[in-house]
Amino acid sequence: MLDGKILSANFVEQSQNLRRDKKIPCLAVILIGEDSASKVYVNNKIKIFKEAGFESKSFLISSDEAHEEKIIELIQTLNHDKQIDGILVQLPLPKGLNTEKILNSITLSKDVDGFLAHNLGSLATGEFKNAIACTPFGIMAMLFTYGIPLSGKNAVVVGRSNIVGKPMSLLLLSADATVTIAHSKTQNLKQLCQNADILIAAAGQPEFITSEYIKSGAVVIDVGIHRKSDGKLCGDVGFDVKNIAGALTPVPGGVGPMTIAMLMLNTALSAWNKNN
Ligand code: NDP
Repeated sequence: MLDGKILSANFVEQSQNLRRDKKIPCLAVILIGEDSASKVYVNNKIKIFKEAGFESKSFLISSDEAHEEKIIELIQTLNHDKQIDGILVQLPLPKGLNTEKILNSITLSKDVDGFLAHNLGSLATGEFKNAIACTPFGIMAMLFTYGIPLSGKNAVVVGRSNIVGKPMSLLLLSADATVTIAHSKTQNLKQLCQNADILIAAAGQPEFITSEYIKSGAVVIDVGIHRKSDGKLCGDVGFDVKNIAGALTPVPGGVGPMTIAMLMLNTALSAWNKNN
């Protein structure tokens, strides 16, 4: 098992070291709408920031008050606020709001989620000047820390979203893996996955990757998070995969904590860059 809980604690410590005696990094968190999962994610981030001695400021906007211009106006105020080092808009946004337009109103230096078109584009050109999207960044940190070789390996990424699948594929490519990106229209997914030395499951489909998809000894990274009818959490990967995979991330306790640790690292780096 690749333990994201223990590993993320190291990265949180590194983020705290970046503070040195400079100002305390501060994240602005904007939560729009009433999505209960989003509320849980936001509260979790705020809690972990607080435990690490970082600041956060929450801005809660109900669906009734969620007007695009008002949200962009808030983001622009935060862009100019010297106390704020990073701005996070919790996704998904309620229907009817233009996610691209809202995210792209965040100033580049405060895009600690790494979702801006410029930041995603810079991954494509192999530059790593600004923040890298937290989930793929956390997965790369995990693969490097566990010493998992990537160069020349076949990596299959299931999912092509702008926040997970695409940046993940670009990072693996930068690490010299041979990358295949699969999505809902992909034919013969099972055969593709069976060829993967490294499989990243980010389709948002509960437990749909079973042991039949896995090559013996493969490294399997489970990005999915789902709540089952019995209240327990599960990922995109079925429990039986642990019998055939060489390494596997658990859910919970795998990719999730790494994502938050990278958010903290990106926020600390943003504060540090501002003060140096
Ligand atoms: P999206 O819904 O934006 O993207 C899902 C992707 O998977 C799409 O590209 C879709 O294809 C593809 N897909 C869906 N069904 C299939 C299928 N049956 N076979 C192959 N491909 C399929 O999700 P996200 O990328 O935002 O998130 C993915 C999962 O990761 C979710 O469960 C989410 O909750 C979780 N997550 C976890 C995080 C963490 O910190 N652990 C952080 C972020 C997300 P198409 O493009 O064709 O529609």
